[in-house]
Amino acid sequence: MKLLLHICCAPCAIYPLKTLRQEGVDVMGFFYRHNIHPYRECQRREETLKSFAASENLRVVYQKGYDMEGFIRNVAFREKDRCSYCYHDRLQAAARVAKKGKFDCFTSTLLYSKFQKHDIIKQMGESIGKAEGVPFFYRDFRNGWKEGIAVSKERNMYRQPYCGCIYSEKERYYKSQRPEP
Ligand code: SF4
Repeated sequence: MKLLLHICCAPCAIYPLKTLRQEGVDVMGFFYRHNIHPYRECQRREETLKSFAASENLRVVYQKGYDMEGFIRNVAFREKDRCSYCYHDRLQAAARVAKKGKFDCFTSTLLYSKFQKHDIIKQMGESIGKAEGVPFFYRDFRNGWKEGIAVSKERNMYRQPYCGCIYSEKERYYKSQRPEP
């Protein structure tokens, strides 16, 4: 089975890649960039993935361009619900690459994260798969959460401190500031 794996970052790809390969699945990666801000952070995550992919002999399709402005325009005035747009755009982009590349199915490392809305990602992936004509491969990769973290630390990989968008960066750091007078 030829599967396209949407990869949000290298540490989150460790466990899904390992388990899928153990099952004999032929995996290729896909890195989506527009939701990772600012640009230097996106570059850092992409470089980490390139190094991981080289060590694992994993081929990866890297999204071209960097449409941060489009991402921000699409979530403006609905920032609290931004993750729905973000999941949808990433999964749809992955489905389209999978369809074009004649993959048997596609999936996402988002299903590995304990911090993402797992059930929404599953439903969205399945619905996008139907609409785009390429099946979504569902698997609960969260079982490998601790293992993935341990391996990423052993390998001294860059582990990002926030989800990706500039809003998540603010949520991560702003709360720790002293209240305004
Ligand atoms: S918090 Fe993460 S999933 Fe939600 S919009 Fe930002 S980058 Fe996307």
